[in-house]
Amino acid sequence: MKMIEKIDHIGIAVKDLNETLKIYTEILGLKSAGEETVAEQKVRVAFIPVGESEIELLESTEPDGTIAKFIEKNGEGIQHIAFRVDNIEKTLEDLKSKGVRLIDEKPRNGAGGAKIAFIHPKATKGVLIELCERT
Ligand code: ZN
Repeated sequence: MKMIEKIDHIGIAVKDLNETLKIYTEILGLKSAGEETVAEQKVRVAFIPVGESEIELLESTEPDGTIAKFIEKNGEGIQHIAFRVDNIEKTLEDLKSKGVRLIDEKPRNGAGGAKIAFIHPKATKGVLIELCERT
């Protein structure tokens, strides 16, 4: 059974979204596909397509948000890797049956109308993995 299709995006925690966007657009010559605030996750995000995948820049909208806490602890940088899956519920069931520790037992709403869920980094040697289903 194929569950993971490709790297959907790489999530990067940043302090200043506008300033960071300039690096990707003006210096690296990429184009932003748009910005969005995801209130549920206390983030403002910008997606920058790179071939088949995207870079997701995440800026915290609240001082107690996950991204703010991440930056406090680790500084700015890569925060998660997102894998595209065709059926997130099925993938979560499969991981649960394998005893994998999850942050999200059920999918929640991500940017761009995606359904997302995170695997606990303790289960993946320190890498925060997001599962992402897009319709
Ligand atoms: Zn993400």
